Formats: sequence, structure tokens, C-alpha cells
Amino acid sequence: MEKRRRLVIIGSGPAGFTAAIYAARANLAPLLFEGFYSGPAGGQLMTTTDIENFPGFRDGISGPKLMEEMRQQAVRFGAELLIEDVDSVDLSIRPFKVIGRSTTVMTDALIIATGATANRLDIPGTHDNEFWNKGVSACAVCDGAAPIFRNKELYVIGGGDSAMEEGMFLTKYASRVYIVHRRDELRASKIMAQRAMSNPKIEILWSSAISSVEGGHVVESVILKNLKTGEESKRAAGGLFFAIGHTPNTAFLKGQLHLRETGYVRLKEEGTTLTNIEGVFAAGDVFDFRYRQAVTAAGSGCMAALDCEHWLSLQDTHSQ
Ligand code: NAP
Repeated sequence: MEKRRRLVIIGSGPAGFTAAIYAARANLAPLLFEGFYSGPAGGQLMTTTDIENFPGFRDGISGPKLMEEMRQQAVRFGAELLIEDVDSVDLSIRPFKVIGRSTTVMTDALIIATGATANRLDIPGTHDNEFWNKGVSACAVCDGAAPIFRNKELYVIGGGDSAMEEGMFLTKYASRVYIVHRRDELRASKIMAQRAMSNPKIEILWSSAISSVEGGHVVESVILKNLKTGEESKRAAGGLFFAIGHTPNTAFLKGQLHLRETGYVRLKEEGTTLTNIEGVFAAGDVFDFRYRQAVTAAGSGCMAALDCEHWLSLQDTHSQ
């Protein structure tokens, strides 16, 4: 089935749905690919429990509920949703071609909001049907304030800026934070490393790894392995946080759009959502490796829709 559109949005997190809300209200009748096999529609918030820092919900809101509200809001204004993954795009000529599993769409403009996926390790006890969301998380800022982490000994895996930042954030709630790093030298910037190392609540466990996570209803302990000696020890733990980087969901864009070495979309101009291809815009974590918050993603979804609307109206003027 082939369709023709003014605007296609790829991605169904806060960035994609916010772009859809704004674009639908601007009468652009956007078509949004929600994804299917690539993960739950709604993006990373679908695997989060309570979100307490999204403005407007003073008692918090669950990730799936927030996404369902955004989704219905987009539908209410006329966005059309397709529960389908995009396999590839052809951005070499306009209209652009978006090739889904069973639908191909030609479109004048495109907003890419496919987000990023937090990297996790294959550690026993950390999987979705084990302690994931029950003490294991990949976002300290999203989950760290939950009561289960209060006054507990918390573990963060990683040695980059994220691990330092997440470790420092968690010291607000934890009795002690252990940063578990696989080497004896940090990857983090000097300033972030210094800040973390001078925090009296943080201890870095060098050349170490977590071999497994154990507990009852929630995480209660971890098995820590010294990678130099191979020695293992069981330690009390109230939580484990992965901070080993994110992978942007941009594999389908390779060779079509300027990407950074890390795979993130490279914007044409910081502070906008413009990419190197006119008519293609990026929103949310697919380009933003710095803030990565639901509210910043939603903000950039709004910006992408406004940038796109402006660009489309210029095209209309030129073609008259
Ligand atoms: P990163 O810099 O890529 O660091 C990832 C860390 O995870 C590394 O220390 C790495 O260990 C470790 N790691 C990766 N795979 C692992 C595995 N399989 N097992 C154990 N450890 C593993 O990622 P990031 O910290 O998320 O930072 C990403 C970018 O965002 C960076 O450019 C960073 O500067 C930036 N950032 C900036 C700020 C800030 O300025 N406030 C905050 C957060 C992030 P190795 O070191 O051994 O490779």
C-alpha cells in the first residue's frame, strides 16, 4: 500500500507525539509510525514506573499512562497512527520515501523521533521478568527518588560522565553509592570524575563487575566480582543502575542523513531541529545525548513541528 502525505513522523515517544499534536493542530494531517517489533509504542517511558518530574502531574503519573494520554491527544487532533516499524527511508529526492514493513509513504516533510535505547548488560536478575523496575533501572534521574531506594546502598555500573552524574544524583537518596567500573581508569571528564570522587557518599569499585542481582520482591543484594582476582562477594544493595551509554535508534538512517560517530543525528544548527537535509527534522533523544528527559524530548517535538510547518509554508509560497 502506498500513501502520499505532507508530513510523516517516525517515533512514538514524547518527542513524536508532541510533534504530532502540534502538526495535527496546524492541519498537516501527520502520519505517525509508532513502531511494533522495535519496542513498545510510547518509547522508553513504557518501561518506567512513576514519572514524578513531568510538569503538570503533582502526584506523578505512570510512564504508560502519560504516553497513552499523549497518544490520544494526538489522535484527537487528527494524527493518523500506524503500528508499524520503518525499515528504511530514501531522502535523496523529494518527496521522501518512508518504507515500513507493509506501508510505503511518500512525504513532503519528515520528523525523526525514534529516540535512543539505554544499554543494559545481560546480568542474571536484571531482566524484564526479574528485577527490572524493581530496583534495576537505566535512569537514575527518572527512578532514583522512588521510596525503594531511600537510605539504601545503591550500585551504578559505568565509568563515563553518565555514571558520575547518576551516582551524584543518587547520593541525595542513598546511604551510599558504589560506582562499579570495569577498568581502573575512568572514561568520564576530569571535572565530573573529580566531583564524584570527592563526594563522601560515593566509592568507586575499580576493575569490578556485577555478576548477578538477587532479592525478594525488590533488589536486596548484588554479587560483585573483582575482575583482576576473580574473587566474588555478596553485598547488600537496594538498587542497581546501568549507566553504560545509550544507542540511538538510527540504524535505518545510515547513509541517508548526517549522523555522529556515535550514531546520533547531527543537527545542521544547534538550537533548532534542522538536519542536513531540507525538510527532514529531528526531535528528542535521537539527537539529544545530553538532557534525555521526557520533558525536553516533548519540547523538541514541539520545535520540530514548528520548524516543519514553517518550512512547508515556505515551500508552498515558492511553488505559487
Ligand atoms: P560513555 O561515555 O560511552 O561511557 C560509558 C561507560 O560505560 C564507559 O565507562 C564504559 O566503560 C562503560 N561500559 C560500556 N559498556 C560496558 C560493558 N559492557 N560493561 C561494563 N561497562 C561498560 O557514555 P555516557 O557516560 O552515557 O556518556 C555519553 C556522552 O554523553 C558522553 O559524551 C558524555 O560526555 C556525555 N554526557 C555528559 C554529561 C555532562 O556533561 N553533564 C552527562 C552525561 C553524559 P569503558 O570506559 O571501559 O569503555
